[in-house]
Amino acid sequence: MVVNNIDVYLREKGVKPSYQRKRIFEYMMNNLNHPSVNDIYEALINEIPTLSKATVYNTMNLFLEHKLIEVLPIDTNEARYDVFNPKEHGHFKCDVCGNIFDVSIKINVEDISDDLAGFKVDSEIYNFRGTCKACHESGKENQAI
Ligand SMILES: [Zn+2]
Ligand SMILES: [Zn+2]
Repeated sequence: MVVNNIDVYLREKGVKPSYQRKRIFEYMMNNLNHPSVNDIYEALINEIPTLSKATVYNTMNLFLEHKLIEVLPIDTNEARYDVFNPKEHGHFKCDVCGNIFDVSIKINVEDISDDLAGFKVDSEIYNFRGTCKACHESGKENQAI
């Protein structure tokens, strides 16, 4: 997804583009590693000293409400967010480094199960967990807790 003008984009989505909201959304666009509220706060606090975690949290909820982002349905201790991407993709969570990777999905929903024949599918969610390639190759998986 490419957004040329965040100001216009937020307005289109019904969100009043305050400076903090724009910076938070920009951060989401530039960091597709599914940041948590804490990650966003830590990344922007130097630049925006008036920022609070509550503001980031409230902003994420506002973005969610207006479908600008989605919260990942993957089990972690803290919510992780994704810039809304209409193209279906799955997520792989590494239990060693904690990173969440986007994975493209090559199959069609009709091919997954005959039991879905005749059903109208509105949402497809693919979650995978395990050890990512880098952690696997470095043998770090044995240190997983
Ligand atoms: Zn990893
Ligand atoms: Zn994603």
